[in-house]
Amino acid sequence: MLKPEDFKELYRDFESAPATFDCGKKCSPFNDGEPFCCDTGWVVPIAYKAEWQYLQKRTNLWHEFRPRNSDEFDLMDEIDEDENDFIECRGVKYCERDNRSVSCRTFPYEPYFDTKGNLLGLIYNRVMEDKCYLVDRHQVVTKKFIHEMLNFFEKLFKLLPSERELYMGESRTYRNKMSRRKKPVVVLTLDGPFEAAYRGGKLIRPWTKPDPSERSYHPKV
Ligand code: SF4
Ligand code: SF4
Repeated sequence: MLKPEDFKELYRDFESAPATFDCGKKCSPFNDGEPFCCDTGWVVPIAYKAEWQYLQKRTNLWHEFRPRNSDEFDLMDEIDEDENDFIECRGVKYCERDNRSVSCRTFPYEPYFDTKGNLLGLIYNRVMEDKCYLVDRHQVVTKKFIHEMLNFFEKLFKLLPSERELYMGESRTYRNKMSRRKKPVVVLTLDGPFEAAYRGGKLIRPWTKPDPSERSYHPKV
């Protein structure tokens, strides 16, 4: 059972940024100076119920997200209100590193499982794949970040086992999606990026191709 006070340790041990540079500086010039993932016009952070309780005790950085149009009202139906809440922060000018939500800390990554339930590394949350600079830049993520994120999820899955099932399903969906697109499933591991099999999801070979060039970054807005 996940409790608000669990987030003290969960947050403390998951502090690092994904890359050695500030990726917000790459994408924010294309979004009026605001990183895409900090703009609820593009993506709305989700918090675990216990996490939201924890944050409310610690800071006034966050408030409950209030939908502003029909798409956002539809979005509200996509979560289980007994488990999660949509939240919104006061904006990037007021960001407090220690009080970033799990969604801020993890974006744009998700834990990756093979079909046997082995947690093997990280894949991308592709909800903003055409905007986020980090998506498919497999070489930029640091080992420290991968280690912290995997460690975070190992602890979280013990406290909330249903999340394990959820991400196993997400990994399966990811493999199917990439297979349909004829794109490789690249998994970020502590030993570097690896290509994974569409079937079964095992890691099959190191991924050695270079990342997309700087010039190829043209986020769609
Ligand atoms: S994670 Fe992606 S969207 Fe968010 S600041 Fe970094 S590059 Fe921009
Ligand atoms: S808390 Fe910070 S990182 Fe998270 S959405 Fe707000 S500005 Fe972005």
